[in-house]
Amino acid sequence: MGIYENYINEKAAVEECCEECGRNPHDVFLLAVSKTVGLDGVRMAIDAGCTDFGENRPDQLLEKYAAFPNVNWHFIGNIQSRRIKDIVACATLIHSLFQEKHAQKIDEEARAAGKVQDVLIEVNVSGEESKSGISPDKVKDFLHYCLGLQNVRVRGLMTMAPAGDTRAADSAFSGLQELLCTLRAGLEGESLQAFTELSMGMSGDWRQAVPHGSTIVRIGRAIFSEDFVE
Ligand SMILES: *Cc1c(COP(=O)(O)O)cnc(C)c1O
Repeated sequence: MGIYENYINEKAAVEECCEECGRNPHDVFLLAVSKTVGLDGVRMAIDAGCTDFGENRPDQLLEKYAAFPNVNWHFIGNIQSRRIKDIVACATLIHSLFQEKHAQKIDEEARAAGKVQDVLIEVNVSGEESKSGISPDKVKDFLHYCLGLQNVRVRGLMTMAPAGDTRAADSAFSGLQELLCTLRAGLEGESLQAFTELSMGMSGDWRQAVPHGSTIVRIGRAIFSEDFVE
């Protein structure tokens, strides 16, 4: 099957999964992670109805944003200070923020660009050393630091679950859901209203993330790879 069919199938599968676990399909958003394909691949997904794409490299983000400025581009990769200006120029939502120095730079660049930058805080729920993200016990302080930045709007949390371990993934997803809930209890007004998103679940584990309240599933291989099997 090709990208066009894969996108349609995954979109329908996400909707079906929502219905199975009693969630409104409109509350879960499919982000197509196009990092492994070129402009042709993106075009096919757009033809199938896709409106939001995720990239983890600034160069790819810039190139694809320039080619397709009318869809939304999300940055899901490792943030480097010197690339923040480029990321802010293109990104609808940055999923991978967890350092104060980067938050401060995003604020500066967003102000210069005349925008408020939506971000998610990346949390290392499982504590694996190889994973990036802030540890759960430090999220509250970091969130409150970000709330002091005028041109940064924190929309929620993001995590990556340990690969290939169903139980560990379940506990990472439920941990992130609880964390969002706990943090929301300490917010009010606009900050509370904005802080609603849980970006969790990828090709291999999104079916586990949806029952735990995921609002954004980031799906790459299941759409763009020829030989992905679940
Ligand atoms: C690549 C990537 C994805 C998509 O992973 P697949 O397994 O290809 O679905 C999701 N999130 C992040 C942060 C990624 O880097």
